[in-house]
Amino acid sequence: MSTYILDWIAPQYCVLCGLRIHGQQRAVSGPLCKSCANNLPPSPLLRCRFCGTELFGEDEICYTCRNRTHSYEEVFPLFRYRDAPATLIRSYKMSQRKSLASFWANLVYEVLQQRWPEYVVVPVPPRPEKIKTREWDQVEAIATRLEKRGVPVVRPLVRMASEEQKSLGREGRKANASKGYEYSPEYHFDAPQLVVLFDDVYTTGATAEACSRALLTNGTKKVAVLVLAMD
Ligand SMILES: [Zn+2]
Ligand SMILES: [Zn+2]
Repeated sequence: MSTYILDWIAPQYCVLCGLRIHGQQRAVSGPLCKSCANNLPPSPLLRCRFCGTELFGEDEICYTCRNRTHSYEEVFPLFRYRDAPATLIRSYKMSQRKSLASFWANLVYEVLQQRWPEYVVVPVPPRPEKIKTREWDQVEAIATRLEKRGVPVVRPLVRMASEEQKSLGREGRKANASKGYEYSPEYHFDAPQLVVLFDDVYTTGATAEACSRALLTNGTKKVAVLVLAMD
């Protein structure tokens, strides 16, 4: 349907400033006006390869991460989880402004082209409960749009149900922190060799680590992590 007709039957307003968005702009940036889209903070250039913390010296890895081990090569956040990007992500996830999916997919697509043109995207899978209730999956919505643009996307991972995790008990959960995600028994293809693991928000890195380990123990050679924002 033409975006001009859409303007009439379902007017759209900017998620950030509330300005009404018309025609062409609506097709380009979704529910974000031109000025807000242009004023998003630039991604910090110097950052720790593992936690994304901004760095001020010559090092590539921050002090905290030097004392930790990571199975993935680096994590690249589009934004820090604060200010306008945080508002956008919240309204995408919580209030379900689904029309933001294309906006995010465009940004993710650019980064993939620049940094990892040879890599295959693996979206972090949702909770099984979410699949059962057919709840909207905000990560998958972006992955699907990337696929439509020709980006290779595979889904070899599954997430354990929370009951399964609970049944492990506190100690068991600690010891099995890396078992929250596993390789899907239904995935019968060759393991993707170079993977960009994609998620919405990176907080402690536990999800990325668990997914990355599951991939690496099943034949993947390298994992990089790309997220919309880092908390
Ligand atoms: Zn705006
Ligand atoms: Zn770090």
